[in-house]
Amino acid sequence: MALGIGYRNQQLQNLAAFDELTQVANRRYFDQYLETALKQHPYLSLILCDVDYFKAFNDLYGHPAGDRCLQQVAQAISLSIRESDLVARYGGEEFVVVLPSTTAETAAEIAARIQQHIRQAAIVHEGSQVSEWVTLSCGSASVSPGFSLPRLQLVQYADESLYEAKQSGRNQVVASQWQTREAKGASI
Ligand code: GH3
Ligand code: MG
Ligand code: MG
Repeated sequence: MALGIGYRNQQLQNLAAFDELTQVANRRYFDQYLETALKQHPYLSLILCDVDYFKAFNDLYGHPAGDRCLQQVAQAISLSIRESDLVARYGGEEFVVVLPSTTAETAAEIAARIQQHIRQAAIVHEGSQVSEWVTLSCGSASVSPGFSLPRLQLVQYADESLYEAKQSGRNQVVASQWQTREAKGASI
C-alpha cells in the first residue's frame, strides 16, 4: 500500500486519517500533511486525479460497483507512487498525490504512470465517451525551488490543470509549474 512506511501508517491511525472506503489517507490528513510538506521541502508537486464519466459508471453498474471501482483506482495510484509520496482521497471520485522534492516533469511522468496502471486494471466502462475502460484526468501543479506558495493556492492551480485536462478531452495529464504558470498537455 502506498503509504508504505510503518511510521506513517502509525501516524495515520493515530489521527484516524484513513478514508474508510479506499484505505488511503483522507482529506483531513492531506490538508495537514501538505501544510507541513510545503514548509519542509524547497519544492514539491501535487497531482489531482478525477475519474472520467464516473456518474455514468454509477448509473450503469450501480453504486456498489462504483465503490469497488474507487478502491481499484486508489490501488492503481498507490502502485504508481514512491514511498516518499502521499496519496489521499480528496473527495468523491477525486484523489490527490503529494510529491515532495519533485519537479513538474517528474510529476507528469508519475501522473502518466498512474494512468497506465488504471488502464492495466481494465475496468470496463461502457458509459465513458473517451474509452471502453475507466480513465482518469490528471492535473498537476508544482512549486519551483526558491518560490513559495500557500497550500490553498497550490491546490487551486492543480485544480485548474485538472479542469484543463477535462476540457481538452479527458484521459490526459496537464502539468503546470508555478513561477511560469505555463501549462503543457500530454496524452497517453
Ligand atoms: P467528469 O468526467 O467531468 O469528471 O464527469 P463525472 O461524471 O465523473 O463527474 P460528476 O461530478 O458529474 O460525478 C461524480 C460522481 O461520483 C457522482 C457521485 O455520485 C459519484 N461518487 C462520489 N463519491 C462516490 C462514492 O463514494 N461512491 C460511488 N459509488 N460514487 C461516488
Ligand atoms: Mg469530480
Ligand atoms: Mg469525474
